[in-house]
Amino acid sequence: MDRFTFPAKFFLISMLLAVPLSITSFQSVVDSNEQLRTAHIKHLGALNVHAFLPVIEALETMRDLSVAERFHRSEVVEAKYLEAKQQAMLEIEKFINNDLDENNQLISLNTFALQRAVETLKLTSGSEADLERTIFDKVNLLVSAAYSIQYQIANVNGLLGDIDPLANHLVIILTAELQQSFEAMGEARAYGSYFIANQILSSYGVELINGALSKLKDSELHLSDRFTILLSSHPKANGTLAIDSSAINRLNDIYMQVDDQILLDPDLTTTFEVFWQQSSDSIKAFNQFRRQIVLFLAKYYEAKERVMESNKNSYVFGVSALICVFIYLFIGFYLGIKGSLGELSKAAVQVAKGSLDKPITISSHDELKTLAALLDEMRVQLKDREQQLLDMTVTDTLTGVKNRKYFNEQLKECMALCRKTDQPTSLLMMDIDHFKCVNDTYGHTVGDKCLQLVAKTLQDNLSRPGDVVARYGGEEFAVLLPATDEIGAITIAERLCRSIRELSLNIEENEIDIRISIGISTSNLIPNCLEERLVNLADEALYKAKKTGRDRWISAHE
Ligand code: GH3
Ligand code: MG
Ligand code: MG
Repeated sequence: MDRFTFPAKFFLISMLLAVPLSITSFQSVVDSNEQLRTAHIKHLGALNVHAFLPVIEALETMRDLSVAERFHRSEVVEAKYLEAKQQAMLEIEKFINNDLDENNQLISLNTFALQRAVETLKLTSGSEADLERTIFDKVNLLVSAAYSIQYQIANVNGLLGDIDPLANHLVIILTAELQQSFEAMGEARAYGSYFIANQILSSYGVELINGALSKLKDSELHLSDRFTILLSSHPKANGTLAIDSSAINRLNDIYMQVDDQILLDPDLTTTFEVFWQQSSDSIKAFNQFRRQIVLFLAKYYEAKERVMESNKNSYVFGVSALICVFIYLFIGFYLGIKGSLGELSKAAVQVAKGSLDKPITISSHDELKTLAALLDEMRVQLKDREQQLLDMTVTDTLTGVKNRKYFNEQLKECMALCRKTDQPTSLLMMDIDHFKCVNDTYGHTVGDKCLQLVAKTLQDNLSRPGDVVARYGGEEFAVLLPATDEIGAITIAERLCRSIRELSLNIEENEIDIRISIGISTSNLIPNCLEERLVNLADEALYKAKKTGRDRWISAHE
């Protein structure tokens, strides 16, 4: 880990978190898409079943007319039978043309086979002694084939075996239990209408009618129980279930109709039309009940689809927002750290190069800012040390005034500047009078003290910032006075002589008198003046001052 740069470490750790999170989020989106697709297919499946119901209804009508058509053969029955057959063909055609399930080959094949079977249907088994039951069962095979197609539609669209209990219950009722109820109703309608049309009820007929009535009773009880359980176990379905379960009573209506008009009326006084109409009305109402179940399922899955869609959108929005915030923070952190480290490195390089004037600061407000502040403190200390070293190289260690090296540099610079600005530079060269005597009498330590006192006095009597006091050597001092003419220099020389004279150095109860002699030279009074000439003339004037009695100043230009 130590081999990586700081931004690289940050990047690595971020990626370790971001990659699994991204994969999980992506997987969740894929899963919810899959669930959404499944709900959508179920929704379409329910619509598909709904589109197929007219086929079943038409086939059931055709089946229930087939017995009367085969054995009674009246014009009215024949017309009704042909109409029902035509209707069945039409509904199958409509379903085939409906592109809802065009992609499922098995369903298409079975539907085509059903169409062909209806088209070629003959109401005889080949025997003249056909029984009513045989004919009903023969046509009922087509109805069963239709129910089997309905089952396939439900199956391929995932409606069967749904883990949602309410939907699962309704699909079972739709694909299995209702077939038996409709078959019981169909038997009652088919046999009842045939016997009424024929006006004869044989003992075999009574047996058939009783069989149909018994099936009706069983079916009604079974469906009632099923719905009672369904509604009690799914209370929320009570309010929203747009299914009128009272339609189950229609099974009883037909039961009563057959009982009243056939079993309890041996003369069979009810006409075929009336019986057919009344039983068909009950079956229609029951058909409506079946359609309600299918439409409820379609709406139920549509609502689920919508909820899933909205959940998915919220999830995608949330994840996208999270990713944006993550990227924003990542870029922010990454650039922040990179930038701060860059600023610190740049500052360190500057310090290493010796450039100590620019303060070290960084724009961030974190731990690196503290580090930058510490580095800046180091820079300030280095700068102070550098200044101290610099001062040491130009300062005379004994007296604290500037040394000869500094004097020479300043003299050169000052002369150059004065030449440019056409201003005079004056120089005072001075020497302590009879200083050897002080040393000899009181020792070198006292001599040193004396030198320090003289230097301080000289320094204290100069007020301009550009004036320089330097120890020229031994007990000799030089005072450089920029932009000062001879008169100004004389004034200062006089002031310095007086101030030194006024000094008192008390050693071992003796008062030591200190005096100085000064030689003055001024650049504007020397033609083509160079530094060396200025120094020499001041020196010569100093020599003269010594010669003429000391404790005085003499100008080289007198
Ligand atoms: P004059 O008036 O002619 O200048 O007499 P003088 O005694 O001052 O002259 P001289 O040049 O003979 O003596 C200078 C003395 O200054 C000699 C030396 O011992 C002393 N001296 C030079 N540098 C130092 C120093 O750093 N400390 C001390 N204590 N004495 C110094
Ligand atoms: Mg001397
Ligand atoms: Mg001297």
